Amino acid sequence: MKELCYYEVLQVSKDATTTEIKKAYRKLALKYHPDKNPGDKEAEEKFKIISEAYAVLSDNEKRQIYDTYGKEGLTGNASRGFGGGGMDDIMDIFNSMFGDSFGFNSQGGRTQRDSSMPYPLDVELEIDLAFNEAIFGVEKEIEVSYKEPCKTCKGTGAKDGKLSTCDYCGGQGQVVMRQGFMTFAQECPKCDGKGQVAKEHCIECKGIGGIVKQEKVTINIPAGIDMGNRLRVPAKGNKDNLGHRGDLYLHFNIEEDEHFVRDGNDIYIEVPVFFTQLLLSEEIEVPSLEGSLSIKLSPKVKDKEHFIFQGKGVPNVNNPSRRGRFIAQIKINYPKKLTNEQKELVTKLQESFGLESKPHSSIFESTFKRIKKWVKS
Ligand SMILES: [Zn+2]
Ligand SMILES: [Zn+2]
Repeated sequence: MKELCYYEVLQVSKDATTTEIKKAYRKLALKYHPDKNPGDKEAEEKFKIISEAYAVLSDNEKRQIYDTYGKEGLTGNASRGFGGGGMDDIMDIFNSMFGDSFGFNSQGGRTQRDSSMPYPLDVELEIDLAFNEAIFGVEKEIEVSYKEPCKTCKGTGAKDGKLSTCDYCGGQGQVVMRQGFMTFAQECPKCDGKGQVAKEHCIECKGIGGIVKQEKVTINIPAGIDMGNRLRVPAKGNKDNLGHRGDLYLHFNIEEDEHFVRDGNDIYIEVPVFFTQLLLSEEIEVPSLEGSLSIKLSPKVKDKEHFIFQGKGVPNVNNPSRRGRFIAQIKINYPKKLTNEQKELVTKLQESFGLESKPHSSIFESTFKRIKKWVKS
């Protein structure tokens, strides 16, 4: 038995990219998530350790320290906030990756599955959404690929369906590893926990065990969906030998807008105004998610000042009646240059204010007089 290094915990190589690390964590975290393994202490410990490994390896600075000095290097300040490894910290890591536990707790009542399939039953898919589709929700028809067990090899992936005992785990499907004082049965990396491997691959499915099928699926995407959210579409994943299908999990890639900037459920917009509009206290209309909002300018408004409209932002994906903020940020524009006529007008305007237009000279007048005396003496 040996202590697993973080790379081994996540089952990635030492030169794995951040994306590979993310992917590996996603896969393992979903497998050992406490919601999926209620009351299973071993799964919980495992979940903690993979989250700890992910927290370190996904952070370039921490990863560098870890690569150079090992875990000891991280027990100082660098890993502050992790040492305790409380469940709240762990869930923070998980949630930062998956967003809210949206679509995660709704997995009850799942049908029994054939776990001997050579491919996973759940399918992950990323789809593109327009800016407004994500905010207002949309019904979308998407083309989904899924696997159906190969008839030639009965879904084993082996030639003539012949499997032999895995020599790495001796058919146990598990290898025992140690992490600190805890021991874990880790899934055998050679047979993926099945205990059996194919001696020769099936020609029909190239050893995958499944044949790819296409299907059109209509999905209702709720208003307020964001990057990092994950939507479960039940029974649209890969099929097993019992005829059951796994689930389809959707991830979203959301297009940016030209003017509106989304930050969670808040929307920002930059509003350029001309300095004279402020002086004249104009009321202006700015575009919002639904129609327009009006802003009352005044000479007191500063550059980069925020006008905040509560409840005019993006609907909360879990509770559409709660909405984020709409924030208009003022950008004051001044003229780049003046024509002769404009110069005359501005000069006239300035003179019309009399003394008020030269605050510095009236304030500094006496100071200038004093300084003159100093210079003479
Ligand atoms: Zn094995
Ligand atoms: Zn086959």
